[in-house]
Amino acid sequence: MSGSNTEIASNLKDNVEQKDIESSVFACIQENNFDELKNLYSQYKLKADIFDSEGMTPLLHACYKGNQQMAEFLIEKGADVNSTNHKHKYTALHFAALSGNSNLCLTLMIAGAKSYITNSIGKTASQMAAFVGNHHCVSIITNYVSKSEVEYFTVPRGIESKPKLLPVLSIPLYTYIMQANIHPVRLAMKMPQILLKEYTQVKKVLDLLSEREMKKGPECNEVLAFKFHYLGYILSEIHRCSTSQNQTDPFETFVKKILKGSRGEEYLELLLRDCVREFPYREGFLFQQMVKSLARKEDSPSALSVILNAINGQSSFNDDLSPCVTCTEPKALKKCSKCRAVQYCDRECQRLHWFVHKKECARSSTSSSKSSEQSEADAESGENVSSDVANLKI
Ligand SMILES: [Zn+2]
Ligand SMILES: [Zn+2]
Repeated sequence: MSGSNTEIASNLKDNVEQKDIESSVFACIQENNFDELKNLYSQYKLKADIFDSEGMTPLLHACYKGNQQMAEFLIEKGADVNSTNHKHKYTALHFAALSGNSNLCLTLMIAGAKSYITNSIGKTASQMAAFVGNHHCVSIITNYVSKSEVEYFTVPRGIESKPKLLPVLSIPLYTYIMQANIHPVRLAMKMPQILLKEYTQVKKVLDLLSEREMKKGPECNEVLAFKFHYLGYILSEIHRCSTSQNQTDPFETFVKKILKGSRGEEYLELLLRDCVREFPYREGFLFQQMVKSLARKEDSPSALSVILNAINGQSSFNDDLSPCVTCTEPKALKKCSKCRAVQYCDRECQRLHWFVHKKECARSSTSSSKSSEQSEADAESGENVSSDVANLKI
């Protein structure tokens, strides 16, 4: 039995109204009108996932626009971050990656976006991003590791009586893994002490993470597998610095070995070539490519640049004109106030570099006239720095 004519009419009216409201939702996302979007959701108690004629949800539209605020709001409302109803099977992550908003990509990854999903032309989100030159998005997506991957090892598995990783190590290790700047100097400077203290466990877990990644079948991310291996390798080298006879801070010993001019470059080159050589999963495309670059007879790139390119994609750090001379962190704005010829992130970076820079500095500060420009770091004072650096402001 169908309803009475008035019921049908009223249902019809409701449907028309519902369609109108939904079109308004899509329209206000189009116009980046966040207030209106919030109004519509609170006024009509809408579901997070409604679909337009092409199968796109509001979240897909927000990602297409690269609008982080709207995307976060919709995710909070329960939007499906892996919806594949779009007629060409683009996910929210595909659109975010194409928009070039890398923070938005990160938000989606944290919310559980699956980066291995392909669209109707068989491309993943990071492949689409690479295609349009959004290298930072590629790097964010391929380098993302969820916390649970690390936490997995903090619970005893199978017949284990103890977990492989002390729970207290989970956050420090995760922080180490997720660090954006993976230059060895920067890694050493930012490495939580406890990772070195519990070296054996941490190294083992990094190796297992690498192995697990390679065994994920179609979801395998060789970049990550190599990154875990690389992070373990750097940790091992710093650990070696701590077991040698000298009593100094192993992090500092390691950093100074690298900063030591051409001898430092040589040391780093040999270390990183060994690191590539010792990667145990040799059948992958990435590994083959790295070996090919390193084997070039003429103008072979440095092992460091090969590794940074492999892990971060083309973006690396070459688009920045003033990296910190110690740790390569981009946009280092604080100059040595004596010679103004080199720039650092902060006093710590300057202090670490001083044993190399002091000769250079004396030379260039006598030959060049001082700039009248005020250094940005002059406000920093009262820090405990070595006597050599104490009279230097940056
Ligand atoms: Zn620095
Ligand atoms: Zn100087």
